[in-house]
Amino acid sequence: MSCIFCKIISGELPSYKVYEDEFTLAFLDINPVNPGHTLVVPKRHVTNIEAVDEETLCQVVKAVKKVGLSLKKNLGVAGYNLGVNNDPVAGQVVAHLHFHIIPRLAGDGFKLWPQKEYGDGEAEAVFAKIKI
Ligand code: 5GP
Ligand code: ZN
Repeated sequence: MSCIFCKIISGELPSYKVYEDEFTLAFLDINPVNPGHTLVVPKRHVTNIEAVDEETLCQVVKAVKKVGLSLKKNLGVAGYNLGVNNDPVAGQVVAHLHFHIIPRLAGDGFKLWPQKEYGDGEAEAVFAKIKI
């Protein structure tokens, strides 16, 4: 077992456990964007959001909500970003599904992604391909 998050789940590696239940574990990110930056993971090893079964995903999202509430109540943060880097091309380094909960402070300088504009016909073309 080489997965670093599985080692944290099993207790082989230490972590600051913020929340735990039968399905999920939430622990502090070792290199936070802001203090309280927490990772929420399913206890079962799955690589990404397509690989996780829906019951487990629901449990993980419920845990995300619990931790978010604790950050607001106990750290006094006014809000937080939720993020999933889904696959290496999107910046996923640890191949075990995880939700980042990033507390936000006024003027903390954390910038979200830059945005582009669609060219002529581009939105219609991509829409036609991905519409479910
Ligand atoms: P990713 O880029 O895969 O979405 O994010 C992985 C996150 O895991 C990073 O934010 C990184 O700081 C965190 N991380 C990596 N190794 C460890 C570790 O050993 N312990 C903890 N608590 N966090 C880790
Ligand atoms: Zn794992």
